[in-house]
Amino acid sequence: MSIEALLAAAKTDRPNHAYLLLGPLDEARALAKRLAMTLECEAAAEERPCGACAACLRVGNETHPDVHLLLPERDALKLEQVRDWRRDTRYYHYQGRWQVFLLERAGTMTEQSANSMLKLLEEPPAGTVFVLYDETADRLLPTVLSRCQIYRLVGETVPEADLEGAAALLNELPELQRADLLLRTAELDKDRLRRLLLGMQLLCRDLTAAAWAPELPGLSTIPLPGLPPRAALALLPEIEQGLELLQRNIINRLLCDTLLLRFRRIVTAQD
Ligand SMILES: [Zn+2]
Repeated sequence: MSIEALLAAAKTDRPNHAYLLLGPLDEARALAKRLAMTLECEAAAEERPCGACAACLRVGNETHPDVHLLLPERDALKLEQVRDWRRDTRYYHYQGRWQVFLLERAGTMTEQSANSMLKLLEEPPAGTVFVLYDETADRLLPTVLSRCQIYRLVGETVPEADLEGAAALLNELPELQRADLLLRTAELDKDRLRRLLLGMQLLCRDLTAAAWAPELPGLSTIPLPGLPPRAALALLPEIEQGLELLQRNIINRLLCDTLLLRFRRIVTAQD
């Protein structure tokens, strides 16, 4: 999903009730602000966010009365903070189109605050939009994740060793026998599988970009695997789905095998 696709719904009168943005904190924060601007902007729908109207400017300098930002205090988002927020959601908004609640480093929610948050996400008050953001989804409850539209910023860094592992797997994928694949997945814990998928995602994006949009700078720091660009493109939604399963903590050994076998089928079908 592109940033444009993410913002598209926010321009309309039917945005999602909850978003989760994942990536480097600075970028995620900037995107959350842009999302809030898009929601509050007073310009015509297709021009949102215009960046120039009173609403955009107020979101920009953090003075918009309907955009609420919740920051962790001493490394935790505490129950009282979420409670105060829940009280806020009951008041009718001041001037904006939506009441927007931004939750920075959402993963620092204590168990109590996450449960309180969950109640809000399960029955979102009319006219409210929640935007959670953090570097990873590792510390978020699966029940919270399942309520959010998840957007991952590409900037999430992948260590070079994992990129190399991902490139090797992509290169070998068409030739690997089922038994070899099963052996491979036996070595993967959740964390390694995630880094492997992120590496594959980055390489497939670069491969696709190199073929169809060569003016875009590549992100990977290693030589690209010899996969046909068409196969790389076909793999991207599958990789995305794998990452989503991982985030919701519903991936296990069997799913992992199925995932890699599907990857292989897609790659060989595109040869
Ligand atoms: Zn505007």
